[in-house]
Amino acid sequence: MSAPFTPPAESVVDRFLRYVRIDTQSQEDQTTTPSTAKQWTLAKLLVEELKQLGVSDVRLSDYCMVYATIPANAPGGASLPVIGFIAHVDTSPAVSGAGVSPVVHRNYRGGDIVLPEDPTQVITVAQHPVLNDLIGDDIITTDGTTLLGSDDKSGVATIMTMIDVLRQNPHIEHGTIAVGFTADEEIGVGIDKFDVKAFGADFAYTVDGGTLGEVSDETWSARMATVTFHGKSAHPGTAKGVMVNSIYALADYVSRMPKDMLPETTEGRVGFVHPYSGVADVQESSIRILLRDFELTGLDAKERLLRDLASATEQAFGGVTVTVDVKENYKNMREVLKDHPQLMENAFEAARRAGLEPFTTPIRGGTDGSKLTFRGLPCPNIFTGGHEFHSKLEFNSRRGLEKTTETLVHLVQIFAERGEGAR
Ligand SMILES: [Zn+2]
Repeated sequence: MSAPFTPPAESVVDRFLRYVRIDTQSQEDQTTTPSTAKQWTLAKLLVEELKQLGVSDVRLSDYCMVYATIPANAPGGASLPVIGFIAHVDTSPAVSGAGVSPVVHRNYRGGDIVLPEDPTQVITVAQHPVLNDLIGDDIITTDGTTLLGSDDKSGVATIMTMIDVLRQNPHIEHGTIAVGFTADEEIGVGIDKFDVKAFGADFAYTVDGGTLGEVSDETWSARMATVTFHGKSAHPGTAKGVMVNSIYALADYVSRMPKDMLPETTEGRVGFVHPYSGVADVQESSIRILLRDFELTGLDAKERLLRDLASATEQAFGGVTVTVDVKENYKNMREVLKDHPQLMENAFEAARRAGLEPFTTPIRGGTDGSKLTFRGLPCPNIFTGGHEFHSKLEFNSRRGLEKTTETLVHLVQIFAERGEGAR
């Protein structure tokens, strides 16, 4: 931590290395929140550590959500907006999080990084040019056998260290700060159990992003279509003139997907349709399709397209009826965040004060913030310095963690400086 802060009692790197060793992997298709009991281990530890950091108002919910409030110390603090910070304790079900053994590559000199316990796992400069910016930094990787869990223990560690820094530096003025550590983010359901009212913030940031300086106020608008093809089953021996095999209609429909509108052919701001799983059966076949676009008009157009293609297939296959059922998953949070421009401005200013160059790119996915924003808690996403989430090549660095922490400390100061007008 650079001047003008007195350093935290425990460095953000040491804190991070402690948290990643705790297995908190979540699991799909469970009926409880949290989906796995092991997430309690870190949540309970955080409750204890928050108390040790002098935070008196710490609560742990039945759904493994940690809430804490740090009182304002700025003059007139009660009139300042309450700013929240949110990170998730769970790690992705995609790669094992058991027995994480982090490796610190001190004073990185450039070149590819071979992970010690599995030499086939290599972080190459060619595929990760960001390594060129990390010369002289301490890079933190796994040993090659698990994920690292930087997503999102970087968010957890930097928020905790921000609290530590504020405690060591009582001269840093801030309004009321709300902190939330959530479960089951990676399986997309935990946030439904997050109590926005109890959290008590006017605005919040998820600290769950990537490259240093990247702040995001845009996610997909997302829907899912289930297209069902109704045919007619019959014994194959006596099927002539009777059977209507819906599988052919399904195949026809999928073949009509525009090839330039798929995940494998699009990037940047261009949305897609994505048939991703289905059931094929004579009597009834169905396919599930993801629809993604940054604009609601674009999403509407994709939904119309899927319905038009259904009519075309229906016409081509006499006797088959096709139904299209569309559900909303989440909406682009920018629809709301555009009315709160100070959230991005202040985050950009905080990053600049930490010596970073802030920038924004739309997220080709959703965040917990996209749901919270539409539940009345406007919530952009801030970087953590981490890379290659959900893989054995996941990494972060000392500077990544320190600069993220520094940005959070600047951010609470900026909201206090800008006063009530920051609301
Ligand atoms: Zn995450």
